Amino acid sequence: MTQGLADVDFSGKRAFVRVDFNVPLEDGVIGDDTRIAAALPTIQHILNAGGAVICASHLGRPGGEIVEELRMAPVAARLQELLGEEIAVKACPEVVGEIADAMASACKPGEVLLLENLRFEPGETKNDASLAEKLASYADVFVQDAFGTCHRSHASTVGVPARLQPAVAGLLVDKELKAFEKAMGNPAKPVLAIVGGAKVSDKMLLLENLIEKVNTILIGGGMAYTFLKALNQGVGKSLVEEDRVETAKRVWEKAKQNGVDILLPVDHLAAKSFEPNTDVKVVNGDVPEQRMGLDIGPVTREAYTAAIRNAGTVVWNGPMGVFEMDAFSHGTSAIALALAESNCVSIVGGGDSVAAIKRNGVQDRMTHISTGGGAFLELLEGKALPGITALQA
Ligand code: ADP
Ligand code: MG
Repeated sequence: MTQGLADVDFSGKRAFVRVDFNVPLEDGVIGDDTRIAAALPTIQHILNAGGAVICASHLGRPGGEIVEELRMAPVAARLQELLGEEIAVKACPEVVGEIADAMASACKPGEVLLLENLRFEPGETKNDASLAEKLASYADVFVQDAFGTCHRSHASTVGVPARLQPAVAGLLVDKELKAFEKAMGNPAKPVLAIVGGAKVSDKMLLLENLIEKVNTILIGGGMAYTFLKALNQGVGKSLVEEDRVETAKRVWEKAKQNGVDILLPVDHLAAKSFEPNTDVKVVNGDVPEQRMGLDIGPVTREAYTAAIRNAGTVVWNGPMGVFEMDAFSHGTSAIALALAESNCVSIVGGGDSVAAIKRNGVQDRMTHISTGGGAFLELLEGKALPGITALQA
């Protein structure tokens, strides 16, 4: 298990904390400060333990150059508000350099320094050695609390912890890893995976890995049609990846060999066109020639929610339909609500799946909602995250 905050004595030390302050910004105004608020427990833990905090994050996609609208100053101001006036929060106008050198060495126990947007430095995404070396020189301890970037090999995720030990997980990363471990390590059975979204190609590795780990997989969304096609069902104009039909067959066979049940939709909301107010019909079995399946139908909804009611653990990634349009959001909403009502351990990840959970107002009723889209998917694919491997075990 990765080491955490409790394994480190922060007293009189400076901690470099990689945070995720990648908040929505418009004209210098922060839209939603959830990510800043989420980092407070880790920052406060270090301050209370007598340490100094030097934190750093990326913000938007400046592409290795200074973009005035993507400076961290408004984030530092919000962090100051959230931490309260007793704690000094300073914003550094650069990532590294003479000013950063001076501000970092002046940062005292009980104080917080926020470095400038990491992606202003071209070396950040290239895991440049001299940038990592410089950042590592600012502190005595490395803390990783930006789960959403742990699947990237960047200077601040891999280069710094390689040069700065102890290197440990912050409270947010720790929570993500524990939740994943709970679902995949020694889970309450039966274990159910619900996989949806647009494309099979995005989820192939994930499906292959899940076949080794779960008892049942429910498939929905656009990707279901490549599977149905592989089973010689009529799919009409539904989204099908012709070049993945063979792979879908292979996954289907492998699941059978492993004793894993794969459930596919047995009925559909079949639309004439990909539009909100189009002609829609519930169809059983084959999707007619001129129609496309844009959501699972009521019988499938019932079967899938029944499976959730009987599950010990559910891992969910990917909506069951084109949930952005109300007409095709029923399947996804049914899954979200069934999970909310179930006593199972429920772990949800993926940008669109999390958005669907929030649209249904049930975010507080999941066991865990992952904050890292890409990082969560890579864990489900069975990959090691470079930003986690870089920490001490
Ligand atoms: P997540 O972000 O949770 O990982 P994905 O990005 O893989 O999920 O998939 C979400 C997308 O899949 C949504 O934009 C949704 O409209 C689309 N989708 C779901 N069902 C269908 C379908 N039947 N046909 C076409 N697109 C679909
Ligand atoms: Mg998505």
